[in-house]
Amino acid sequence: MAIYVHQGDLPDDVDLGPEIAIDSETMGLLPQRDRLCLVQLSAGDGNAHLVKFDGKSYAAPNLSRQLADPERLKIFHFGRFDIAVIEHYLGVTCTPVYCTKIASRLVRTYTDRHGLKNLCQDLLGIDISKQQQSSDWGAAELSDAQKEYAASDVLYLHRIREQLDAMLKREGRHELARRCFDFLPTRARLDLEGWPETDIFAHS
Ligand code: MN
Repeated sequence: MAIYVHQGDLPDDVDLGPEIAIDSETMGLLPQRDRLCLVQLSAGDGNAHLVKFDGKSYAAPNLSRQLADPERLKIFHFGRFDIAVIEHYLGVTCTPVYCTKIASRLVRTYTDRHGLKNLCQDLLGIDISKQQQSSDWGAAELSDAQKEYAASDVLYLHRIREQLDAMLKREGRHELARRCFDFLPTRARLDLEGWPETDIFAHS
């Protein structure tokens, strides 16, 4: 396993292939206030690429092209947030997408534990630490602990997706899940455009 750190964009020779695991780290939970600091990616080959942003420029043509490419599936865990942040800062809509949290909610109805740590533990038997989650991602230099944490957020998503897909197919909810994923970029847009807390499908 290797972790590569890049400044501002993916290098031209890095192509993440047809299925890209992706996560992001920010200064906080409000995209309009809290800037995007890091985008983590993995092709599912055991390696992670961390693209670091200094907050001054978000022109990242190689990264943006791969995220917007309709031929590449972007695999998230709670993609709603990352898709909104990426849309806001990089100006690209990630599509098509897959979200392991939504998949888990649709099929692991026997539990309410749908965090990434839970999925790694329950589906893969892997323990990941969440200790660095609330650390300073805007720091000029990331610590080794931050790099490892950031990488662990994307390294297992392909395998988790495989497991969840098998369960979704088994329970006849694969098509339902796909339709939820298709709506996800729109849900992220609603978050950015003023309906973050509103369930637009609710009666009142
Ligand atoms: Mn993360």
